[in-house]
Amino acid sequence: MTTYKDYYKILGVERTATEQEIKSAYRKLARQYHPDLKTGSEKEAAEEKFKEINEAYEVLSDPEKRAKYDRLGANWQHGQEWQPPPDMDGFHFYTWNDGDLGATGFSDFFETLFGRARANRTGGGFRWEPQMRGQDIESELQLTLEESYRGGEKTIQLTSREICAVCQGSGHLDRGICAYCGGTGNTTVRKTLEVKIPPGIQNGSKIRLRNQGGEGLGGGQRGDLYLKVNIQPHPLFTLKGNDIESKVIITPEQAALGDKVTTATLDGDIILTIPPQTHSGKKLRLRGKGWPLKGGGRGDHYVEVVIDLPAFLSEAELDLYKKLAELRKGV
Ligand SMILES: [Zn+2]
Repeated sequence: MTTYKDYYKILGVERTATEQEIKSAYRKLARQYHPDLKTGSEKEAAEEKFKEINEAYEVLSDPEKRAKYDRLGANWQHGQEWQPPPDMDGFHFYTWNDGDLGATGFSDFFETLFGRARANRTGGGFRWEPQMRGQDIESELQLTLEESYRGGEKTIQLTSREICAVCQGSGHLDRGICAYCGGTGNTTVRKTLEVKIPPGIQNGSKIRLRNQGGEGLGGGQRGDLYLKVNIQPHPLFTLKGNDIESKVIITPEQAALGDKVTTATLDGDIILTIPPQTHSGKKLRLRGKGWPLKGGGRGDHYVEVVIDLPAFLSEAELDLYKKLAELRKGV
């Protein structure tokens, strides 16, 4: 939560004050509270006041900033709790993580309104240097089911647009257009990154790589890179929530009499017991053989039974099926 600053009150001028009035009020106060002229306990108080005066002047001496500030309305009280209004068309407000706020010497209120800035004293005045955090970038990370299950390190390559190091993004040098970036101010850079994949990562979850996003402005921090996990389809296994599903094909005799068959799991082949008189579509549960759970443990693996005939049946086999068919008629 930020608190509203009454910049007019700080400079002791009316809301209708002219540029000249604002300037002379600022000069008078800046002289009065200049920390260099104070000593001891007075110095600290003066420093705070001096900062406040400079911030007020930064806003009210700049027509654009003053107009934006004025649009917040005249009914706010200095020190009142304040949040960016959601319904102010055409205005962008800046949001920062709590820990980032106030890092520049300006107040939270100021940074929410005008963004991150660095105040540089140059020749008696302040130079406005916008400083903004770079954009967050989202990209896809293709993983096989096995990679997602086991986790580990994966090397990925990606291209990113970087501010041209030769012309600092301006696109031109003293001699003319910057040949390095072709005047665009940007260059495309190939990056190789090591990504740590936690075991059992879910499809669609995002891995955050701090400071690998877009470049910041004016020395601002880089944005973050988010890699959205896309688990590729697997020929044998389907991931459904925390469970794995697969199929096992058995013959009619195995279904009728029961058997032991080999089937694949995430941990390799196992022997699966088919109980006698198993129907097609039955799902056999392998407890704890599924996907790793967040709090430890694992989901289950369901093996669906599919009954199919062998590719070829011999005469003798067909004779037996005929006998079975006769028997069925008599039941
Ligand atoms: Zn360039």
